[in-house]
Amino acid sequence: MASAALRQGTDMIEKRDFYIDGAWVAAKAGTDCDVIDPSTEETCAVISLGGQADTDAAVAAAKAAFPAWAATSKDARIGVVEKILEVYNARAEDMSKAISLEMGAPIDLATQQQTPCGPWHIENFIRAAKAFEFEQMLHEKAPNDRILYEPVGVCGLITPWNWPMNQVALKVIPALLTGCTMVLKPSEVSPLSSIVWSEILDEAGVPAGVYNMVNGDGVGVGTQLSTHPDVNMISFTGSTRAGIAISKAAADTLKRVSLELGGKGANIIFADADEKAVKRGALHCFNNTGQSCNAPTRMLVERARYDEAVETAAEVAGKIAVGPTSEPGRHMGPVVSEAQFEKIQTLIQVGIDEGARLVAGGTGRPEGTNRGYYVRPTVFADVNNQMTIAREEIFGPVLSILPFDSEEEAIEIANDTPYGLTNYVQSEDAEKRNRVARRLRSGMVEMNGQSRAAGSPFGGMKASGNGREGGVWGLEDFLEVKAVSGWG
Ligand code: NAD
Repeated sequence: MASAALRQGTDMIEKRDFYIDGAWVAAKAGTDCDVIDPSTEETCAVISLGGQADTDAAVAAAKAAFPAWAATSKDARIGVVEKILEVYNARAEDMSKAISLEMGAPIDLATQQQTPCGPWHIENFIRAAKAFEFEQMLHEKAPNDRILYEPVGVCGLITPWNWPMNQVALKVIPALLTGCTMVLKPSEVSPLSSIVWSEILDEAGVPAGVYNMVNGDGVGVGTQLSTHPDVNMISFTGSTRAGIAISKAAADTLKRVSLELGGKGANIIFADADEKAVKRGALHCFNNTGQSCNAPTRMLVERARYDEAVETAAEVAGKIAVGPTSEPGRHMGPVVSEAQFEKIQTLIQVGIDEGARLVAGGTGRPEGTNRGYYVRPTVFADVNNQMTIAREEIFGPVLSILPFDSEEEAIEIANDTPYGLTNYVQSEDAEKRNRVARRLRSGMVEMNGQSRAAGSPFGGMKASGNGREGGVWGLEDFLEVKAVSGWG
């Protein structure tokens, strides 16, 4: 059953139902939760936060659907996912509106970057699944040994608000393709896009119980999934704080826990970097209002280019227009919530108090705004790596610039962080770039502005987690490996 599309307008969106066992059902133990439009600070929708009875119903549906779904052929599962892609593309406009409304992405950003994450991942996973052999020979010298890749079982999928469809597609699609069944708990801050997503999966004909969606918060549905005896795996994307809590909660039932957590990426700009490296790095940091786990928030600049870099980054920040989500254009939207707004304000003040040199932005709302969670694009120079703004994930449009004098020092600063998600290197010297990439303790390194290609795994080391999403690694995350001898 597909309910009416989400509208951006005057009437309040009421979406209290959950998607369980192939139908939209009323919450059994729900409490109302307002969804706030970050542009206006007004309530734009009401959802339910589920309770234990809702989680139990969704897990029971997923458990019951597992044997039949796990037994389907790879081709049948790919067929269902291809249908999801078709329906998603037809619903792209609804998706963009929902994302823009719930998390504050300006409508062009939602349309051009946020919503397209869905089809991008779906297409890449279809390609990976087509090439993946679920039954493989161990090696030529053991012709009767087989390695069977089997679905891990019922999965709890817990996602954040910052790139909502990116995260949801990176979990739901590989879970479907590997034969798992699942319960999605999207962020309670950005639940509207996942409601559209659930309508899409319903329309695409995903069999009842294979995919379920319950809204809820971390202490409620999040913890209930993490501790549930019938959930075999949690795939989580979000803060390191919640990743630790989930790992502990999941320990008693020995679930597999796959974690995609925060980051504090270094962008090492050597003196021989191309002319646009600084501008590119600053714009990347501010994209999505700085709300990306892989944002290059620590710009490390070799001394010879340092003053010029500070000037350029400040200029870039100064030119960024800030404005409402509903207006077309490439301006920067608000941050997601009052809590994030307050946290960012506090951290900017801490940066000033600890002696970093403010060269753009600062505390307070940008000129011309007095409502909405708008933050001034901010650049700090003369940051040292022990300052709070260099250590904590701010998750807002705040760039820290640090000077360095040698390759060795740059690597040391880059690695001196609890995180290890994405680092960046800018240099025209290929040998130097490769040498540095090998030594950076992060799951990903992007160099000279070249993004990682389709099918490349996304994930981190250390406090950035242990999961690898996307491509063949993203499928393997949801698979058990069974070794069989005596195969006939
Ligand atoms: P968050 O950790 O507060 O919430 C993420 C999700 O976890 C939400 O659905 C929330 O309800 C749930 N949750 C919170 N506490 C929980 C608990 N104790 N048990 C179970 N579930 C719980 O994070 P957020 O503020 O929504 O998102 C921002 C964070 O996500 C940032 O730290 C960012 O770096 C990280 N992130 C990481 C990646 C990645 O791939 N590494 C991608 C995007 C975002």
